[in-house]
Amino acid sequence: MQQSKRQTIRAIILITTFMGAVVLLSVVALQQIKASTTEQIRDNLQTLLLTVQEAHHILVEQRRFALSSIAENTGVAALTQRMLDDHNNKVPLADSQALKSFRSFISPIIRKFGDQGFFIVAPNKVTIAAMDNASLGTLNLIAQQKPALLAKAFAGETVFIPPISAHISTKTSKASQPQQDTTMFLVAPIVNREQEVIAALALRINPKKYFSSVTTLGRIGDSGETYAFDESGQLLTESRFGDQLRTLNILGTSESGMLNIQFKDPGGVLTQDHQPALPYEQRPLTLMAAQATQGKSGVNTQGYLDYRGVPVMGAWIWDHNFQFGIATEINVEEALAPYYRTRNTFIQVFSITLIMVTLLLKLIFRLQRQHRAKIEQTNAELEQRVKERTADLEKIQKELSAANEELAVLATTDSLTGLYNRRQFDNQLNLEWQRCLRDEKSLAIILFDVDYFKQYNDHYGHLMGDICLKSIGTLLNEADITKRPSDIIARYGGEEFIVMLSNTDHDYCQQAAQRICDQIRSLAIPHEYTKENHPQVVTVSVGFIICDQLLELRPNQLVSRADIALYSAKHAGRNQVVEYHDDQRDASRR
Ligand code: GH3
Ligand code: MG
Ligand code: MG
Repeated sequence: MQQSKRQTIRAIILITTFMGAVVLLSVVALQQIKASTTEQIRDNLQTLLLTVQEAHHILVEQRRFALSSIAENTGVAALTQRMLDDHNNKVPLADSQALKSFRSFISPIIRKFGDQGFFIVAPNKVTIAAMDNASLGTLNLIAQQKPALLAKAFAGETVFIPPISAHISTKTSKASQPQQDTTMFLVAPIVNREQEVIAALALRINPKKYFSSVTTLGRIGDSGETYAFDESGQLLTESRFGDQLRTLNILGTSESGMLNIQFKDPGGVLTQDHQPALPYEQRPLTLMAAQATQGKSGVNTQGYLDYRGVPVMGAWIWDHNFQFGIATEINVEEALAPYYRTRNTFIQVFSITLIMVTLLLKLIFRLQRQHRAKIEQTNAELEQRVKERTADLEKIQKELSAANEELAVLATTDSLTGLYNRRQFDNQLNLEWQRCLRDEKSLAIILFDVDYFKQYNDHYGHLMGDICLKSIGTLLNEADITKRPSDIIARYGGEEFIVMLSNTDHDYCQQAAQRICDQIRSLAIPHEYTKENHPQVVTVSVGFIICDQLLELRPNQLVSRADIALYSAKHAGRNQVVEYHDDQRDASRR
């Protein structure tokens, strides 16, 4: 139980370590993916920005070339000179023939490029020619808003005037206040034959059309946007989020983003009901606008809040030639979408793996428990079976030892009389012989034989003979002749019996032999077929020997001598006891 608990804890630690390593590797891999994604976005934003800037340059260059060609036309210079003369001579410009001629010359060109009109600005910055008469004789729009750039044109350069208000500003209007129409210009110097700049020709370009053709190149994905903005951080292009801004009341219902939005940081996501802490005028510029309007180009992939308060990544550049900035931005959320998708996939795969590993562990533990229970059950059954088998074995062993004991008894006992048999007697004699020899003790043998037993069998039958022998056996068993454990009484063969007594004396031995003779006769087993002077009962003849000089003899010699004594008893008329004497031996030899 303790071991299985330890195994479970070890498995849990192992799995936890494994899953921890997987998490660690996943986090490292995700960080690498995020870094490479961010790097990719950085490259994309910068490439996009440069592409937009390059497109702008190409476009401006084309238009500048076209405008310079017009401005350098001698016919144009001549007409301009006439208009200047009219202006100087106070001839109403609306009536100027030269203006009419110029208008009919320029109109097809303006239509061709989709421009909004033109100005010819006199050196005193008064408009001396335009598509309509309203602005004639007034201080020119460009001179009012971008005098430095206009001065460059009078210095002989073809200049680009970034978007400005189409209306002449009054003293009460503020830059931050929303203004409606915006316009922008390309201005080229009109040069006479003497190469003197006599006026400036300004082509009024539709900013919406112009910028949208360039910046919409930079709209990537769902939230990518490319903007142009001026030195105050004011938006010069349309915003793709116009509808969103109008919903948030950042723009009026009919206002466009152009010149009505400044890149100011609201401090939080306006679309999520963030209420900016500062009033609009006091809010700082967004990180991008703050840097770009200081003339610094840059890129940020850490994320910063744009003018909607949405975290974005962006790249920006300040175009020193054209005095406006271009920025391209994309929502962080969209930019990092591939990374988030990968991260979610990682999380999903990890969760599924975790669930599967947990289930697998549960299954393994359950199988282990079942397996253990089965083993325990098998062990219990096995133990029970071993117990049963052991009990059986013990029983068999008991039976076997009982049988062995029985066999041992059978091997040493005579079945008819219940006395020891001859084999056991011989063994015992040999053993006792050695012992008595060593201890110098005496050994006695009493041998006796039933008299006239052939006749008994012949007349009473063999069965009765057996019963007779059995009765003699019973008597001998109960007669208490053998006193010591080493003493033995046995059936020596047929109707012959033998007794061995160790460490005994002559008297006891003679008494024992006589008792045997007397007690068997006293059994009074009838036997009518003996000799005439013989009692009519079963008797025995007994021969015995007692010897304390065993060294001179061998065991069988002792028995032979007892047999000689027995023979002497038979010969002397039976039913008597005879002790062995050496002369009997000599007589028997004879
Ligand atoms: P003696 O007085 O000289 O001993 O004469 P005997 O007839 O007893 O001796 P003998 O050797 O002529 O005969 C012995 C007989 O004992 C022969 C045999 O039939 C009988 N006998 C020996 N063993 C058994 C036995 O186990 N059962 C029975 N019923 N008779 C036996
Ligand atoms: Mg005999
Ligand atoms: Mg006999």
